Amino acid sequence: MMAATGADRWSSSFAQGAGVILTLHHVRGAETRGFAPNAVLDITPDFLDRVLRLIQAEGYDIVSLQEALARLRNPKPGRFFVALTFDDGYRDNVEEAWPVLAKHEAPWTLFVTPGFADRTARLWWVELEEAIRALRRIDLALPDGRFTARTETDAEKRRAFGKLYWRLRRGPEAILLSAISTLAAEAGIDPAALVARECLPWETLRALSGAPGITIGAHTLTHPMLAKHDADVARREIVESRQRLEAELGLPVRHFAYPVGDPGSAGPRDFALVAEAGFESAVTTRPGHLMPEHAGHLHALPRVSLNGLHQNEAALRALLSGLPFWLRSRGRTLDIG
Ligand SMILES: [Zn+2]
Repeated sequence: MMAATGADRWSSSFAQGAGVILTLHHVRGAETRGFAPNAVLDITPDFLDRVLRLIQAEGYDIVSLQEALARLRNPKPGRFFVALTFDDGYRDNVEEAWPVLAKHEAPWTLFVTPGFADRTARLWWVELEEAIRALRRIDLALPDGRFTARTETDAEKRRAFGKLYWRLRRGPEAILLSAISTLAAEAGIDPAALVARECLPWETLRALSGAPGITIGAHTLTHPMLAKHDADVARREIVESRQRLEAELGLPVRHFAYPVGDPGSAGPRDFALVAEAGFESAVTTRPGHLMPEHAGHLHALPRVSLNGLHQNEAALRALLSGLPFWLRSRGRTLDIG
């Protein structure tokens, strides 16, 4: 609607801000159908190509994260910028996204979780998806009561995934991980094989880290929702992810992304820990554009996710206008609490 009325254009002066950091996860294949509860995290290479073409056609600058920070500190009036960030370190980022990014000479940042390259951390949201896809029924004992659901049809699988996912997301991470382990084992899913299928190995990460236009950032050691853990665990995940990446890749790591990244996963304590660890910046998944005020809060930067369920130009124009986020925040530009 906003694109149709032109609201995305007249609002640009106040809602658009200085720039925006986009969040991407998977770039692959065709649009997913049927039971695909994580499809929100997938865009196609063709959509990425259209995104980059539209950004350039609008006259926006595609910049590295480093340049985005420089422009926050020293604004270039009238030059809106877009920085591209990819979380987790998926194989398709190299196989499918990189050729498109290279074609447009677009710099990008990859936030890597060493535990995924080691095949020891868990893609628990994918395990949950694959378990529910395989199982015809779920019967799970949880500390706050049983969870049972019939999961024969796509509709039943979708409903069960939504309910169980959010019930587990709200609670302690240890419960989430053990419940999903139980389901994965029941469905015959090997979590390490799944990570090996989806995530880049060290060998490729090493080759990637020297390439022009590519920045490697840290995304914790094992991808925990930091705010759910005590400070010692959180500090270790933050500090050691950087040490490990620098040792493996032989390059300085200056930027950080909070796993999951919503207020329940990363809060003021975590922002302080990341600053204390010496990172120059850190990005959340709290939605928003970059405003001049963010120059004073570089460890709690908002981002805008390219949503796999809305791969169209109208949705993209709305995201780039900043208006949906400005409206949601009622004009309050800092979301750092
Ligand atoms: Zn992540």
